Amino acid sequence: MSKKDTLLEQIRADIIDNNICPNLAKTARNLVMGSGNTDAGIVFIGEAPGKKEDEIGLPFIGAAGKFLDEMLTTAGMTRSDVYITNIVKYRPPNNRDPSPVEKKAFWPYLVRQLDVIRPTIVVTLGRHSMEYFLPGIKISEIHGQPQQITWGNTQIVIVPLYHPAAALYNGGLRATLIEDFIKLPTIINLLEKEKQ
Ligand code: URA
Repeated sequence: MSKKDTLLEQIRADIIDNNICPNLAKTARNLVMGSGNTDAGIVFIGEAPGKKEDEIGLPFIGAAGKFLDEMLTTAGMTRSDVYITNIVKYRPPNNRDPSPVEKKAFWPYLVRQLDVIRPTIVVTLGRHSMEYFLPGIKISEIHGQPQQITWGNTQIVIVPLYHPAAALYNGGLRATLIEDFIKLPTIINLLEKEKQ
């Protein structure tokens, strides 16, 4: 196991030991931590696992996940180039939105995941994950535009995108999301060049 995998496993163990969101834990089948490449330059953050994700224990494997896979392909990437997780790691019953209390409870564990992976960009999918990085900003005003924020002692770049589930059956939003998504490789390349 790599050092990063060991650290990520510890985060999972801490969520269980600290009894985070016991009501969600009671009804969920799996704690869905995330999946993908822990050395990736890009981390996607969704909202919470749905039915399929809860059954299997992996993020974004239902309808929204299929759309995410299509967009990754269009942008010349695969799941092994990226890491995918959610702000809330247990499925909220009946696919309701995660509550502010649940998001707040899981936030420190998401921060720890990002500290381990240290991606070049963090792509938030939908407002639930965006609002913690960019409070008080409307997604309609900044989607697709890289936002530099201070993160502890470092600067990180957030790219807010619409959530694939919201865009699935809305033609206009779908086109906007695809347009934003295909810009991601250029954004990463530019930032990685700046780092050198
Ligand atoms: N929607 C999300 O936000 N996350 C998932 O893992 C699946 C659907």
